[in-house]
Amino acid sequence: MSNLFPTRAAGLLALQEFIPNMGTHYENKRNYDYGLNKHKAVSTLSFYICRRLITEKEVVCASVTAHGPDVSKKFIEEVIWRGYFKGWLERRPQVWDSYVSGLYNDCILLENNHLLRQKIERAESAQTGLDYFDEWARELLDTGYLHNHARMWFASIWIFTLGLPWRLGADFFYRHLLDGDAASNTLSWRWVAGLHTRGKPYIARAENISMFTNGRFNPLDGELADVCHGLEETEPEGLPTLLSLRDVQKPKSGVPTAVLVTDEDCQIEDFDLSGFNIKGTATLSCSHLRSSRPVSNTILSFENGALFDAAMRLNKSSIHLKANHPKTLANWAQEVGAKQVFTPFITCGPLWDWLKQAEPFLNDLNIKLCEQRREWDNAIWPYATAGFFKVKKQIPIILEKALIL
Ligand SMILES: Cc1cc2nc3c(=O)[nH]c(=O)nc-3n(C[C@H](O)[C@H](O)[C@H](O)COP(=O)(O)OP(=O)(O)OC[C@H]3O[C@@H](n4cnc5c(N)ncnc54)[C@H](O)[C@@H]3O)c2cc1C
Repeated sequence: MSNLFPTRAAGLLALQEFIPNMGTHYENKRNYDYGLNKHKAVSTLSFYICRRLITEKEVVCASVTAHGPDVSKKFIEEVIWRGYFKGWLERRPQVWDSYVSGLYNDCILLENNHLLRQKIERAESAQTGLDYFDEWARELLDTGYLHNHARMWFASIWIFTLGLPWRLGADFFYRHLLDGDAASNTLSWRWVAGLHTRGKPYIARAENISMFTNGRFNPLDGELADVCHGLEETEPEGLPTLLSLRDVQKPKSGVPTAVLVTDEDCQIEDFDLSGFNIKGTATLSCSHLRSSRPVSNTILSFENGALFDAAMRLNKSSIHLKANHPKTLANWAQEVGAKQVFTPFITCGPLWDWLKQAEPFLNDLNIKLCEQRREWDNAIWPYATAGFFKVKKQIPIILEKALIL
C-alpha cells in the first residue's frame, strides 16, 4: 500500500502479490486490523477495483484459479458485497437522493451550530481523546484507507458514542477514502446506523476491538456507548419502494461517437468499440463532486492518474474534461462532430447526478448519451433487492453468468 500508483499495471502487480493470501489465510485473518502499513491479511485492492483499473471478475478469477471456488468462498463473498451494494442503490436511488439532501441540511447545521462544529472538527482531526478512534482518523487522513473492521468501529463510535450526525461521518469518509464509493460508503454507514438492515445497528464493543486489533487498543469500561437501538426512528417511513433498473440507451454502430472515460470504469478496452465511428475520446474527472466540502488532494490526483492511464491504454489521443458546468460534455461532443457519447454504465452517485444535468444540453444538440453495463453487474444486480443473503444464495449462478465457473 505504501507505493500506490494509479495504474492498471500497479493494480495487477498488487493482485499478483495477494493471490497466495486469497484462500484460507483471508478467511481466517481478514477481520484483524494490524494497523498502518500492516494490512497484509486483506487485499487493499479496493482503490483499483472501485475504478475498475482491475475488475471484480479478474480478482475472483485469480482466486478461483489459485485456490478453487470452495477455499475462495469468503473472498468471493466480500467482492460480491460491492456489487450487492451497487445494485441495491440502483434499485433505490431515492436513498442516495435523501442522503444528498440530508447532508445538505447537516452542513447548514454545521455552519450555524458552534458546538457541533467543534465536535466534528475534533473527530475529523483525531482529537477526541479516544486513542483508537483518533488513530483511525489519522490513518484515513494520511493514507486514504482504513481496514473494513476499523471502518465499522469508527462509524459506530461516531454515531453512537460521539453522537454525531451519520451523514457527516459518511461525508468525512467519502472525502478521504481513496476507494470512496457512493453505494458501499452510504449503505455501509446506513447499515452501521441500523437503517439498512433496519433495527440491527452495528455496535462497536471493547472486547471485539481489543481482539481484532491484536491488543493494540483496549477501550476502557464504559467508554463506548451502550447501544439499545439504531436510528430507525429517524426514518419511520422505512425503505423506499424498489424501482426497476433504469433503462440504458445502447450505442449504435456507425454513428459518429465520442468516447467518455470516467473513474467509474477505467478499463474501457474491455468494451467492444470496433463498430463505432469514433470521433474523439475524453477523460472526465469528477471526484470533486463527492461533497460540497473539500475532497482530499490524494483522491483528486489518484483519479487524474487513473484517467491518464486509461487514456494511454486506449491508444487514442484524448482530451481531459472536468465535471464543472454541465454544458461541458455537450460542447465537446459537438466540437468533435459526435451524435452519441458512449461511456461504461454510470452508477447512482454524484457523477450520475451531474450527467442528469448534462443530458438536456446533449438532447438540445440531438446527441444521445449511451452506456453499457458489464456482465458482472448484470449477473448480481437482479438479486440485490433486499438483504445480502438473497445475493449470497445465488453466488454459484452469478459466477456462471459472469463466465467464471
Ligand atoms: C462505514 C464503511 C464505509 C465503507 N466505505 C466504502 C467505500 O467507500 N468504498 C468501498 O469500496 N468500500 C467501502 N466499505 C467496504 C469495505 O470496508 C472496503 O471495501 C474494504 O475495506 C476495502 O479494503 P480491501 O480492498 O483491503 O478489502 P478486501 O477485504 O481485500 O476485499 C476485497 C474487495 O472486496 C470488496 N469488499 C470487501 N468488503 C466489502 C464490503 N463490506 N462492502 C463492499 N465491498 C467490499 C472491495 O472491493 C475490496 O477491495 C465501507 C465499509 C464500512 C463499514
